[in-house]
Amino acid sequence: MTATASLEILIADDDRVPRRLLRHLLENWGHRIIEAEDGTQAWQALDVASPPHIAILDWMMPGTNGIDLCRRLAERDPQAPLVYTILLTSKHDENDLVMALDNGAHDFQTKPVSPAELQARIAVGRRLVDLHDQLQQSLADMQRLAATDMLTGIANRRHFYDCANRVLDEAHARGRPVAALLLDIDRFKNINDQHGHSAGDDALRRVAQLCEEHLRPTDMVARFGGDELAILLPGTRLDEARVIAERLRQAVTTITVTSAQHAVQVPLSVSIGCATVTTPDEDIENLLASADSALLNAKNQGRNRVN
Ligand code: GH3
Ligand code: MG
Repeated sequence: MTATASLEILIADDDRVPRRLLRHLLENWGHRIIEAEDGTQAWQALDVASPPHIAILDWMMPGTNGIDLCRRLAERDPQAPLVYTILLTSKHDENDLVMALDNGAHDFQTKPVSPAELQARIAVGRRLVDLHDQLQQSLADMQRLAATDMLTGIANRRHFYDCANRVLDEAHARGRPVAALLLDIDRFKNINDQHGHSAGDDALRRVAQLCEEHLRPTDMVARFGGDELAILLPGTRLDEARVIAERLRQAVTTITVTSAQHAVQVPLSVSIGCATVTTPDEDIENLLASADSALLNAKNQGRNRVN
């Protein structure tokens, strides 16, 4: 946000005259205003996914007062957007100031409001809101990076495990099936050896992308390691999983990876092991171990097949 960008500001005051005066002042500075006539209305405006950037709250209001609102805002999820609160009061006592700040108010302004002072306090609020937004954005970026496989852009092994046990618990609780597929590119080492590592990388990206395109949003695809992908299919029985796996296997054979070294199309195939949870005490390790032994059988039976 630039230093002059318009802010959304809530003015909560049960007294109409100072509310209107403040509105006039703030609108002249280019801000967008929401008015609340009491604490209840103010909380309705604040307790939303995209609340105003700044709330100027009268201390004394019928229903929920300004202090209560500051406390409630401070108690929200720390990842919620920051609302910079300026508590407005005719009290001049130092203890009141301490009490307001102790209860989560960011700032305190005595009435009558001095325009220059208010403008300076709003500038401080803007800086804090910006900083909080940037921090939240960095946190979200870091979480995304920690969950993503850099080469293919799909989930990584750690994220797969984070989600998988939750999916399994939910399925057990609802008595629904869950299936897992382990997919491994056939003779992948040969692709690297004969056509170069970048052709290998390209093949991995294409296979990962194809899986994402073919599966439902509730399914999960992750790069499990090397040339192996793990796929979790909630609500899917073993026979259905095999149909899905067969569709993926066939689709992979149509992928075209070009060798930069030899100017030829590199044929691709995968082997897929399928498994399902049969008893409620089975966890993701058991499920993947079953899928892994099915995959091994598919490899031993000649590759380019589903087992
Ligand atoms: P199989 O049919 O039995 O699966 O044979 P394979 O050659 O695919 O199996 P193997 O596990 O021997 O080879 C996997 C290869 O994947 C070995 C490794 O060099 C390569 N590999 C692992 N990660 C990457 C990567 O990020 N990029 C590329 N290009 N190759 C990778
Ligand atoms: Mg392989």
